[in-house]
Amino acid sequence: RSKALGRNSLAVFTPGLGRELMDKLKLESALRTALDRDEFYLVYQPQVSLKTGQLTGVEALIRWKSPALGLVMPGDFIPVAEETGLIVSIGEWALRTACDQIAQLQLDLRRRLNVAVNLSPRQVHQKDFQTMIESALLESGLPANSLEVELTEHLLMRDSEESLEIIERVQALGVKVAIDDFGTGFSNMSYITRFRIDRLKIDQSFVSRCVDDQNSLAVTTAIIALAHSLRIDVVAEGVETPAQAAVLRDLRCDFAQGYLYARPLSLEGLRAMASETTKQSVLESI
Ligand code: C2E
Ligand code: MG
Ligand code: MG
Ligand code: MG
Repeated sequence: RSKALGRNSLAVFTPGLGRELMDKLKLESALRTALDRDEFYLVYQPQVSLKTGQLTGVEALIRWKSPALGLVMPGDFIPVAEETGLIVSIGEWALRTACDQIAQLQLDLRRRLNVAVNLSPRQVHQKDFQTMIESALLESGLPANSLEVELTEHLLMRDSEESLEIIERVQALGVKVAIDDFGTGFSNMSYITRFRIDRLKIDQSFVSRCVDDQNSLAVTTAIIALAHSLRIDVVAEGVETPAQAAVLRDLRCDFAQGYLYARPLSLEGLRAMASETTKQSVLESI
């Protein structure tokens, strides 16, 4: 009887959870072998100057092509990678690969192109974190000032003494530091005055509503003003329409990325775009 009840209660109360747990275990075990099997690759999303329209850099975004699970987006595996600690080696792979690929692209196209790489909290708290970045730069030949690392504001708010040290070490190498998804973290914004941050990325949730929603417009306006008064450059994320781009340009936002300009591209797609737009702006009309 208890067996029946047990089975029953599982069926009645937790069918979704059971499947979710199974999916998570499957994901986790596939993730453990993904790096060795070469299942990750990077795509690159262009960033453009809102002043000149020029392509100035790219953000590297990881993708996982799993034979068992198909294409898995980072939102679906980064959290598991964080929990299991796998993010440390996956993140190192992403950083080194981005440096290698963009260094080569710079040589081939004879032009400057910056690359931004997302870093997880677990990664930056590694003892040899600074050495790892240094060796990625040395081995790839990428100039340090072409590299930017993106940190989340949660990291900075949680542990500000250690964060301060991490940021200063990275910047001592000549690498820039950007704060990703800015505005989403119930910010005690005073932290940004404590670090010499190079760029703020306005979260796409504000950008996507800045045209129709007064509150989002107010937040966007305030972030840009705050950043500029601290001499920090601002990047708007998730720009999808010309109307959004126009609002951002009026607010003197410095850079933008989003589907309006380009989806994340394969390395070859980026190469094509970067060689076409060497002299010409990305979207003449925008
Ligand atoms: P993120 O760093 O904020 O990256 C921006 C996300 O917005 C990307 O999703 C990008 O494809 C998407 N996006 C860009 N333009 C638009 C737009 O115009 N409209 C909309 N709706 N979306 C847009 P993606 O590639 O799925 O990445 C999601 C998150 O995964 C990233 O957010 C980042 O936090 C994380 N991530 C990606 N690659 C890595 C990595 O190599 N290491 C770590 N630690 N995290 C990564
Ligand atoms: Mg990012
Ligand atoms: Mg972001
Ligand atoms: Mg995001």
